Amino acid sequence: MDLLNEAGFEIGPWKNYKGNRPAANPKYCYNWSFEQPGEAVAVCLWHRSLKQGKGGVSFRRKPRGFAALRKGPGANVWNRRDADFGKNLELAYRQQLPIRVIVVDGEQRNPADLKPKASIVKARLLDPVGWAVTEYDYATGECLLERGKTPVLPAVDSSDLELAWFEGEKSKRAFIYHRRREAKARREKIQEALRANGGKLICEVQNCGFDFAERYGTLGEGYAQVHHLLPLSKSPKNGRETKLKDLAIVCANCHVMIHAGGKCRALDGLIAASKGRE
Ligand SMILES: [Zn+2]
Ligand SMILES: [Zn+2]
Repeated sequence: MDLLNEAGFEIGPWKNYKGNRPAANPKYCYNWSFEQPGEAVAVCLWHRSLKQGKGGVSFRRKPRGFAALRKGPGANVWNRRDADFGKNLELAYRQQLPIRVIVVDGEQRNPADLKPKASIVKARLLDPVGWAVTEYDYATGECLLERGKTPVLPAVDSSDLELAWFEGEKSKRAFIYHRRREAKARREKIQEALRANGGKLICEVQNCGFDFAERYGTLGEGYAQVHHLLPLSKSPKNGRETKLKDLAIVCANCHVMIHAGGKCRALDGLIAASKGRE
């Protein structure tokens, strides 16, 4: 609790616990992740689960599904904490929130044990260096946390809009799967557009030309949305490599209008020449 306080988290409701030791408030003290809405996310990570690689220290999260590992009264609680953990990381990725990490050392209990002993925490330490979620897979919840990184504006992620255009669970799932494979092409599209326009990302809709960096300064640098020109339903079942020419750089306003009413409109003619900025 004190570490979260140190990290600038609001701990009022936790502290107001009526017991004699507020830190032991069961509603909070066993959680693995904490959210300060709109500002930051804090997570507890076991020291031994951290990886030291060439790029620095990182942690890869794989959703665990404790219920499958271990039946028993504790499994639901573990599953809930793991789900909350994943939800908070997704939120951090979507909203580009910094992550504060509380490193935990001690003996982690093995959830696969038939009679697992409670984890024994020997030490907790608030990492003074900030972390960020640098990769997040919406389909599986798997993600990568890296130490010393700042949150990235997921420029290539405008999945909500594209997703809204698909009806039915089945096609939505197919779409998410497709997007997973397409992520690389989307990143490349951004790079290609930056090179082609002297470091600028300009909305490709005729008569728009919106540039996030021009309007918002540093905050908007490197940001744009990527729109898929071809409906997924028209691509072959076994999947076709997404070509860069199938993708378009668009601003948020145009992207919303392209998909308004669950449609996928052409870029041409979206803004009449007389309504253009120039
Ligand atoms: Zn789109
Ligand atoms: Zn635009």
